[in-house]
Amino acid sequence: MSAIGFFGGSFDPVHYGHLKTACAVKKLLRLEQLFLMPCKAPVHKNALQFSNQQRLDMLNLAITEFDALQLDRREIDRQSASYTIDTLKQIKIDYPNKKIFLIMGEDSFNTLSTWKSAQQFSHYVQLVVLPRLSEAQGSVSHTGWQYFAKTPLVNISSTQIRSKIHNQENLSGLLPESIIKYIETL
Ligand code: ATP
Repeated sequence: MSAIGFFGGSFDPVHYGHLKTACAVKKLLRLEQLFLMPCKAPVHKNALQFSNQQRLDMLNLAITEFDALQLDRREIDRQSASYTIDTLKQIKIDYPNKKIFLIMGEDSFNTLSTWKSAQQFSHYVQLVVLPRLSEAQGSVSHTGWQYFAKTPLVNISSTQIRSKIHNQENLSGLLPESIIKYIETL
């Protein structure tokens, strides 16, 4: 059965930490397709720095450069923010004959027990956890429905980038040049 992956996040903004690790995990698990899946901004104002449209614009620039990656707009196009469990049920309906991987960084994985119905995720997907805090051991370790992938550790976060934008510091090496130029136009 062929496999596809979904990498969810706020992508506020998307950066090389997302893009390089996504490409690495796609190769490692021989995924047919890997979708970046931006979440909808929480309704309260200023929850994210960039608007839904700006985050989509930057993701579109990113997948132009990283053409192994694709975009799935189901969450950001919804009327309101959604729970991951509902998204996973939908994805399973849309891709009934694929093995589906949900990809997340180690920091997100560490909060998983607080996500709505997390104990049901394994009915729909297998989880792939990317190292974020420390180098993972082994190529891919597999415990039931959870994989810990040995992708290169890329020490970049959106928080760091937002802080550099605030302080008018150089962003090169953190995210694609096309996105840096885009941010400068805002
Ligand atoms: P913030 O700094 O605002 O929290 P972030 O850089 O963690 O943002 P998100 O869009 O919140 O980015 O992350 C989406 C997913 O990507 C999460 O599962 C997160 O763990 C993962 N991720 C983000 N940066 C990296 C990275 N450098 N390496 C591996 N995974 C990452």
